[in-house]
Amino acid sequence: MSAKQYTPESRGTYAAKGYSAASSTSSLVPTLISRRDPRDHDVQIEILFCGICHSDLHQVRNEWSVMPTVYPCIPGHEIVGRVTNVGSAVTKFKPGDLAAVGCLVDSDRSCPDCQTSLEQYCPNLTLTYNSPDRYLGGVTYGGYTDSIVVNDHFVLHVPSNLNLAGVAPLLCAGITTYSPIRHWGVTNGKKVGVVGLGGLGHMAVKFAHALGAYVVVFTTSLNKKEDAIRLGADEIITSSDTDQMRKHARSFDFILDTVSAEHDINSYIQLLRRDGNITLVGAPDKPHAVSGFGLLSQRRSISGSTIGGLAETQEMLDFCAKRNITADVEVIPIQKVNEAYERMLKSDVRYRFSIDMASLKTA
Ligand code: NAP
Ligand code: ZN
Repeated sequence: MSAKQYTPESRGTYAAKGYSAASSTSSLVPTLISRRDPRDHDVQIEILFCGICHSDLHQVRNEWSVMPTVYPCIPGHEIVGRVTNVGSAVTKFKPGDLAAVGCLVDSDRSCPDCQTSLEQYCPNLTLTYNSPDRYLGGVTYGGYTDSIVVNDHFVLHVPSNLNLAGVAPLLCAGITTYSPIRHWGVTNGKKVGVVGLGGLGHMAVKFAHALGAYVVVFTTSLNKKEDAIRLGADEIITSSDTDQMRKHARSFDFILDTVSAEHDINSYIQLLRRDGNITLVGAPDKPHAVSGFGLLSQRRSISGSTIGGLAETQEMLDFCAKRNITADVEVIPIQKVNEAYERMLKSDVRYRFSIDMASLKTA
């Protein structure tokens, strides 16, 4: 992309290349979309890598009844790239800088959530894709594109010592697990369970381990055992093994459930000690059945969490830079995105696909 000089009068739109789905049953195919020319507070980023989150698949296939998909849909909210242009009021970034964008591109900036750096809970937030686009109409388009234009408050600085393909997934899988792990006080000596060793789960293991916790992974995939240990787990349990599950009853301080499909959470609630908490970040559409007795008998709690605010996302990136943490990725060209979705459904990815956006040039 060539750096172009914008004046207020010349601001309009420009064409960007991307991959979009036309319906819930369509494959993702090459497309051209309009992006806004940068406004005063905007940062324009050439996208280098974009991770594939299971939420992308849920949204493309219209699997969430609470968030119906508007088509065409361009997903992607694990974005890392290089700044190509900035608006006149931008001071934090300049062309050539590395930059990242996660799941949020706007919020009202005035509500109690925004005022306390919890933009992810703002009632008027704009998600990176499938949210009303207040500049161009229609909906926002995500990171399966060659460039994006975002208000500078929602752009993160990328530490220069980390591998960029592995940084991209930190923008969703990373912050979605880091935030509840910090909120629930995971630290040295705590016993932490991670349910599901996928994109989110493997980041949760890395963070909980880095914070000194004793980490137990619950999986349906026996063949992930060696990986789990390498990633920082102390034990790995096949969730269908009831004997093993029983041995851990009433012992966990905190369990993070990252599972993307319908499953029974009551067997995990039984593993919490008194006042233990299970937090759900996985987002299957169907409501969970929860036994009240499982909770009340030990004053246990169940809660949810979604991504993280901008300040905490930057904190997480800086933590990763210090501890040399990135996602384990399989880098793919954009032309393999539909195949990657099918493999993700089979838990056949170690542990995140990261799209090399240079491949879009030949799409
Ligand atoms: P992923 O890479 O596909 O990992 C999901 C893991 O869940 C799989 O690797 C598998 O782990 C386990 N799993 C899959 N089907 C299962 C089943 N039927 N029963 C039990 N376990 C099963 O997905 P992800 O990108 O990590 O996302 C996970 C979920 O979090 C998705 O629903 C996504 O939408 C949601 N999410 C939420 C937020 C948020 O803000 N709260 C942010 C991002 C994503 P094993 O192979 O180890 O069993
Ligand atoms: Zn995501």
